Amino acid sequence: MLDKVLIANRGEIALRIQRACHELGIKTVAVHSTADAQLKHVLMAEETVCIGPGPSAESYLNMPAIIAAAEVTDAQAIHPGYGFLSENADFAERVDTSGYLFVGPSPDVIRLMGDKISAIRAMKEAGVPTVPGSDGPLPENADECLKIASDIGCPIIIKAAGGGGGRGMRVVHTEASLINAINLTRSEAGAAFGNDIVYMEKFLERPRHIEFQVIADSHGNAVHLFERDCSMQRRHQKVIEEAPAPGITEEQRMQMGERCAEACRQLGYVNAGTFEFLYQNGEFYFIEMNTRLQVEHPVTEMITGVDIVKEQLQIAAGERLSFKQEDIELRGHAIECRINAEDAKTFVPSPGRVETWHPAGGPGVRVDSHLYSGYTVPPFYDSMIGKLIVWGDSRNTAIARMQNALNEMVIDGINTNILLHREIFQHAAFKTGGTDIHYLEKRLGL
Ligand code: ADP
Repeated sequence: MLDKVLIANRGEIALRIQRACHELGIKTVAVHSTADAQLKHVLMAEETVCIGPGPSAESYLNMPAIIAAAEVTDAQAIHPGYGFLSENADFAERVDTSGYLFVGPSPDVIRLMGDKISAIRAMKEAGVPTVPGSDGPLPENADECLKIASDIGCPIIIKAAGGGGGRGMRVVHTEASLINAINLTRSEAGAAFGNDIVYMEKFLERPRHIEFQVIADSHGNAVHLFERDCSMQRRHQKVIEEAPAPGITEEQRMQMGERCAEACRQLGYVNAGTFEFLYQNGEFYFIEMNTRLQVEHPVTEMITGVDIVKEQLQIAAGERLSFKQEDIELRGHAIECRINAEDAKTFVPSPGRVETWHPAGGPGVRVDSHLYSGYTVPPFYDSMIGKLIVWGDSRNTAIARMQNALNEMVIDGINTNILLHREIFQHAAFKTGGTDIHYLEKRLGL
């Protein structure tokens, strides 16, 4: 097993990774920016290395500084968490060639999945259903583009091959606006991602976002851990996630899950990953694969009893998965609320000093957060300051527990979106379950 792991991240996920390491008897190295010296996992780490100033570009995205920190501390492996360098194939490669284990898949697989066009091709070959689309980059020629569009039929979505984070997409409702939309998306993508390749897909009007968690070892074993529903989104950012997805049958679950696990075997995929789908009229359509740990992994942990981060570390160390598909049983229902430091109505970020932190408790309640009373949320990073996760034997119990927990949780000194969550849990449509990805924005009047 590993002796020392460097955590190349911050906030709640760095703490989550540290907890898994400590449970396994692994020492941790916390790398941090000058703005993050007081982070909880930094205070709890065996060793710490300051890798640069507050802005991420100079610290958490600074590859040479992170590799140098692994060198001076003699860490064996680097866990990238999510965001930052977690899906950067060049970083994974540098970690490899510098002689460290990267807790994630190989650089080649990250690269393959990082390009949406090559990812879709690989999925088609593996028998995973995809959205009807251009089957590759759009040509320069306008007539050819119009021909592809009329075959697919409006509405259509133009997407950047190198896009991410909900950026680099444009919906087209009539063929008359197609060429203009392609040109705009192309130039934006070139500027934002350094890659102006775009492709076209049928725009699904009322889909749900349903994703499958997979995990695979380096001995050819791959299993799925069922699905999550992440349809509650604002600006393509997930706000609430749950597992299992309401209304999905056992047959659909096992069939799609097995297809994803089989795709992992064919790709030689190692470590944890997520296949994201849009789901509409009973059909799944692959949109992308995330080759890393996800923010919402706890809901899957709650319904399966699997510690995904511990498995990730063991897999990186060359061990076999500690379970088989048939060992995994789906129990109950779990829901996660992302707690953000932002105004609950305007969504304006609200960094600053947390005067009082009182997390929720009780049966089936889990709080993944680095907050403590007196901690100051710095202005440089994502506004998510924690996750409130509940489990219940049924979805109704989970909802009731979440409502209690949201009422109990106190964060004073900064604004948070707890009030928004309290409100969402009152909605009749949320209580029924199965709302589409536009529901929340419509409800918010956006
Ligand atoms: P990103 O990598 O930027 O997150 P995705 O391909 O995962 O991009 O798409 C992000 C979101 O955009 C989806 O969750 C969905 O809301 C919307 N979207 C993407 N493709 C389509 C499509 N073909 N039809 C309808 N909505 C889509």
